[in-house]
Amino acid sequence: MEIKGKVALITGAGSGIGNAVAVELAKRGAKAVIMVDISDQVQANADAVNQQANREVAYSYQGDVTEEEFRKSVFDDAEAKHGLVSICIPAAGITRDSLSVRMDKETGKAKIYAVEKFQLVVNVNLIAPTYWALEMVSRIAQDRFAKGLKKWGPDEGLMGAVILIGSVSSQGNKGQISYAATKSGLEGVASTLMKEAIFYGVRCGVLHPGFTDTPMVRALGKEYIEKYILPDTQLGRLIRPEEIADAICFMISNSAITGELWADAGWHPNA
Ligand code: NAD
Repeated sequence: MEIKGKVALITGAGSGIGNAVAVELAKRGAKAVIMVDISDQVQANADAVNQQANREVAYSYQGDVTEEEFRKSVFDDAEAKHGLVSICIPAAGITRDSLSVRMDKETGKAKIYAVEKFQLVVNVNLIAPTYWALEMVSRIAQDRFAKGLKKWGPDEGLMGAVILIGSVSSQGNKGQISYAATKSGLEGVASTLMKEAIFYGVRCGVLHPGFTDTPMVRALGKEYIEKYILPDTQLGRLIRPEEIADAICFMISNSAITGELWADAGWHPNA
């Protein structure tokens, strides 16, 4: 599937991987790159993408991806200005790391991971990306219906692609009970959506990054990274966001790729 000429939407584009994907899609000739984030950094990032691309291609939208009204308004506006969105990378994500059961040595009581935290991580990392993807698929479905088109056929060329952002933590990682649950949850979403959305000509897959050099990982601290992460990677360094962006573009543009792709620098942590 050609990236050139397409309208792409990325959430979490105010930082790290989302921003790197926006840069790469603009470089590869996307017609418009819709950059969504809760942080006002997304505006500056969009300006930088335009400057680098030497054309007006990136448009920023600031808001919370868990809000339905915001999601619909972004799609409405993007569609009115640039046409149907056909590439969706819902990359916004958060961590709320803590061991699932911790002993309080003073009271002798065990503390369980707070359910409110779990629900927040599920809302941002699992439900929101799913609904941003479904929003795109639903609009492509409506467009096809309006044109009298039924089941998609290969002669038409592909209509769109969704790449969800998983994680090596989807295989389990100490201290990441909620995060790991959401990332493995996305595997179930993708394997269902890839079967359903192809009816409308939309492919769906999951890219699982290993530890990538972004604020999310840098927040762990240099010492933690050197002691607990780098020894379990083959590269011996954090992955660059541009390397993840390249893998995502590969998944979008090579239509034979389905399912899951691991870009994890050989991450094999001990149990
Ligand atoms: P990051 O913290 O640098 O960027 C995440 C962005 O998401 C931030 O700009 C933040 O403002 C935005 N965001 C968070 N909650 C939001 C909300 N409710 N509404 C709108 N925007 C919101 O992190 P990153 O490393 O670039 O991560 C991007 C994605 O990649 C995430 O889904 C993350 O889980 C995944 N991932 C990252 C790594 C890594 O090593 N960095 C590894 C595997 C997976």
